[in-house]
Amino acid sequence: MQETLRLFIAIELNPEIHLNLARIAVELKKERNDEIRWVNPDNIHLTLKFLGDTPQRNISSLSETLKQTVFGFLPFEIVVKGTGCFPDARHPRVLWAGVNAPVTLFELQSNIDRALLTIGIPKENRPFSPHLTLARLSDRTPEAVNSKEPQKAAPFQNTVFGQMLVERVTLFQSTLTPRGPIYTALVRLPLKSTG
Ligand code: ATP
Ligand code: MG
Repeated sequence: MQETLRLFIAIELNPEIHLNLARIAVELKKERNDEIRWVNPDNIHLTLKFLGDTPQRNISSLSETLKQTVFGFLPFEIVVKGTGCFPDARHPRVLWAGVNAPVTLFELQSNIDRALLTIGIPKENRPFSPHLTLARLSDRTPEAVNSKEPQKAAPFQNTVFGQMLVERVTLFQSTLTPRGPIYTALVRLPLKSTG
């Protein structure tokens, strides 16, 4: 049998953003609700592409392709601001923090998507909507609870959680465990340095 790893590509956040997102999770968790699965604040990241189970022998060509693509971009600033829900506030499945970013982020994401297609990784069919997943609500969560979550998050609608210069992209391995996923950075690929 072929060895596979569950992979995804993401932008890691700086300590200030992690800290501020951990703080709002503490606030929102005060009204405790076990139906809601909070993402461990240390694990929060900006997903660019989810690859899923990938044969181990493909990882070196994947890393090489990713390296070439990422190196075509100059560093850019992102601002983490506000909260919202997918698919919408009435049927929240994901509670997220927003990411304000220049067009470069969208170009980076679509170039990665396109480059990976050349090595057989299917393109994303949904439009890229940059966000940081803070919590997941199951569709078994009672409607009453679901509808309260976005309201609780509403005071943070315009809160700035931090900003950072994006200088690299990370290929992560995700190991799912009963106690939550463990993310391991496999390689960090730099954007083009101006210095
Ligand atoms: P869990 O699945 O236990 O809730 P998780 O979603 O954090 O944990 P993974 O499922 O391994 O862990 O996902 C890793 C990252 O890829 C997360 O940011 C997740 O939101 C994203 N992701 C997972 N599946 C998809 C998908 N089908 N499309 C887009 N992004 C995805
Ligand atoms: Mg998942």
